[in-house]
Amino acid sequence: MARLVMKFGGTSVADLDRIRNVAAHVKREVTAGHEVAVVVSAMSGKTNELVALCRGASVLHDAREYDAVVASGEQVTSGLLAIVLQDMGVNARSWQGWQIAIRTDAAHGAARIAEIDGALLVERLQMGQVAVIAGFQGIAPDNRISTLGRGGSDTSAVAVAAAIKADRCDIYTDVDGVYTTDPRIVPKARRLDKVSFEEMLEMASLGSKVLQVRSVELAMVHGVRTFVRSSFEAPDSVRVMPNGDPYGTLICDEEEIVEQQVVTGIAYSKDEAQISLRRVADKPGVAAAVFGPLAEANINVDMIVQNISSDGKFTDITFTVPLADYERAVSVVKSSDSFEFESLESATDVCKVSVIGMGMRSHAGVAAAAFKALAEKSINIRAITTSEIKISVLIDAAYTELAVRTLHSLYELDKA
Ligand code: ASP
Ligand code: MG
Repeated sequence: MARLVMKFGGTSVADLDRIRNVAAHVKREVTAGHEVAVVVSAMSGKTNELVALCRGASVLHDAREYDAVVASGEQVTSGLLAIVLQDMGVNARSWQGWQIAIRTDAAHGAARIAEIDGALLVERLQMGQVAVIAGFQGIAPDNRISTLGRGGSDTSAVAVAAAIKADRCDIYTDVDGVYTTDPRIVPKARRLDKVSFEEMLEMASLGSKVLQVRSVELAMVHGVRTFVRSSFEAPDSVRVMPNGDPYGTLICDEEEIVEQQVVTGIAYSKDEAQISLRRVADKPGVAAAVFGPLAEANINVDMIVQNISSDGKFTDITFTVPLADYERAVSVVKSSDSFEFESLESATDVCKVSVIGMGMRSHAGVAAAAFKALAEKSINIRAITTSEIKISVLIDAAYTELAVRTLHSLYELDKA
């Protein structure tokens, strides 16, 4: 007997037929003798629809009421799944965030989970009842419903798994695991059996949309064995790995990965915008003057490039911000009076392509090889950032596919 958390995303609960399919997956685990807590997303498209309704109601809507509206999508699917399970003879009960309670901080719309009391859930699980939990939502210190930011059901699932000390957290989705890169761009992309928490964290933050970043952080902190697997496999004949693990990708400790590759995956993100300030005074305090107001405006600056000036007086500063914050970032910079610059240039048709791998820590030349391969395809690099386990380059968006394919084969990720 094991204690499992099974999480199903929006496409897996898109309609009643799919919900029945999900219920069959749940029933399989219950019949196998496991204790099961399920976490569900809203039906696919639902959250977008609810977000649009809030915007339509008022562009500058109250974040608490936004949460009241958008949390409803998960309330519906948790109730529906409980009904379908009961209909199949499975003892099941739905739970909303506040009923458990999943306590969050006060950041409505992008709240972080502060604490989950797992006692009530565990009691029910031990009585043989399946808990069907609405993902994405919790309860803020003001006792109002909060939501965890887009994609937040992953985080709900991992947090619940940690709270009830589950043996495993299975994230069921529309793909059968984490791939070396987006298979829509590189058909030869391979499913990875295992990825380390650190690499998955980079992949999630750098554009791979499989898991919400925060869920990976939580899994890492609490050591939750998290599997990404497909909900589209026939529930009664799911594949298993030779060691009995689910067929999919295990996100785990680095130590568990025996054959460590130098490069594990290539991620990309088109949600970037580049801003360059020409001829900014080169003196102490300028970077603080530029980036301070952006931070105050809650704009996340990612890549930053500053040159050593040739005349000791002026320099150029280039940085990137999320595409959604681009207009705001430009106006923050332009309205700041604590520094001067000659001109502002910007580009929104850019893409950040990243090479990720723990092996980079101990292998030289990974970056140089990437730059050479991109040069051979005449792809110009606008900016570069690196960390111990990743290299990111900013390029013209038009070259995204070519760059991803080039790097994917450069590091022999096509090969089994
Ligand atoms: N339904 C929410 C969203 O679409 C949360 C989730 O699906 O993870 O962002
Ligand atoms: Mg998701």
